[in-house]
Amino acid sequence: MSADETRKVFRFAPSPNGYLHLGHAYSALLDFDLARREGGRFLLRMEDIDKGRARPELEAAIYEDLAWLGVVWETPVRRQSEHSADYAAALDQLVALGLLYPCVCSRADIAGVSRERDLDGAPLYPGTCRGKGLARDGANLRLDMAKAAALVGGEVSWREHGKEIIAAPQQWGDVVLARKDIGTSYHIAVTVDDALQGVTDVVRGRDLYEATRLHRLLQELLGLPAPAYRHHALVLDGDGRKLAKSRASEPLRDLRAEGATPADVRAMLGLP
Ligand code: GLU
Repeated sequence: MSADETRKVFRFAPSPNGYLHLGHAYSALLDFDLARREGGRFLLRMEDIDKGRARPELEAAIYEDLAWLGVVWETPVRRQSEHSADYAAALDQLVALGLLYPCVCSRADIAGVSRERDLDGAPLYPGTCRGKGLARDGANLRLDMAKAAALVGGEVSWREHGKEIIAAPQQWGDVVLARKDIGTSYHIAVTVDDALQGVTDVVRGRDLYEATRLHRLLQELLGLPAPAYRHHALVLDGDGRKLAKSRASEPLRDLRAEGATPADVRAMLGLP
């Protein structure tokens, strides 16, 4: 094994839909510091599959803000918008396993009939289109969760802070894995990319903890390795309290314009 193969691989994966704020700075710096401390590699990935929202000037602003913070990443940066073939191949694999079905229900259709909630608090999909054999054109593709869980068998779990967490992905129900507008989904793109980029350690916010239940299931179904996960608290000030929402969402460029330094940002976030 080469020295490179034994090194851990970390990544920061922002979506260029807005300016980076203090919450992003916390995530990026924590991730970058960990990579440094562990002698690992640090990658940056642009999660720009949502073509309606991603903007090139916001991507440029992300590079500028991260460099200002002192974060150093490997190039080239992987831009998800350039890799739709990889996501299509993963979806094809799931189709071949008989795990995906087209769904034409609108949000309103689902809200009208669903009594339960998924882990995002959205109405749980009741399976209306499952087994109908609808055409794929113009439809979303959903995962047949019961079938997928049965295929994987046994319990899916992940390691976090040395503990084994049971994934229990069934709580998500039949999630959409390919949106009709973009042909893929965050869940597919993130799972495929983490594997293709050899990511060994996913460090991200607590807001994505529940999504990991699904990502672990997808890794099992697609035969991909499972990284270690670390979900950090959302944004803390120096005393370990949550920053006021207005403060946490303050764009880094505004702080910079007000004269803040990268050291000030670290101090605000309680980072060394
Ligand atoms: N692109 C996602 C976001 O901006 C993060 C994805 C991840 O870290 O897994 O929230």
